[in-house]
Amino acid sequence: MSELIKNEASCLCGSVKIGVTNINPKFTVCHCDTCRNWGGGPFFAVQCGTDVEIKGAEHVKEYNSSPWAARGFCSTCGTHLFYRLNKSGSYNMPVGLFSKVDGLVMALQYFSDQRPDYYCFSNQTQEMTEAEIKAYFASEA
Ligand SMILES: [Zn+2]
Ligand SMILES: [Zn+2]
Repeated sequence: MSELIKNEASCLCGSVKIGVTNINPKFTVCHCDTCRNWGGGPFFAVQCGTDVEIKGAEHVKEYNSSPWAARGFCSTCGTHLFYRLNKSGSYNMPVGLFSKVDGLVMALQYFSDQRPDYYCFSNQTQEMTEAEIKAYFASEA
């Protein structure tokens, strides 16, 4: 059985439509300072790979939030649309855009050491600290 699912998402105002061929239902949560500053809380993200079709791309505004990734949002309604890695071009998108996907499972929490103490999920998942993430990506490069 394939874990890959086709889906289409839209921003709140409908100016931007996103077609995605490959959604990994095992989504991740990022607790880093940047994600929480961006969205007001942790970033729930599904990995969508590079096979992504964006209709209404002229309404998408991008911000380079770090040397290695950009964040995109609708310039009309402000809906957060993606976090895209510069090197691979692969997209992570808010799970809320695809909440009708079956079988979504919280699989991994990033930057668990930056998670503030004013919230806590009961989900039992793998967690990675900043140091573990840096070591992981250094070994991949
Ligand atoms: Zn919009
Ligand atoms: Zn983050």
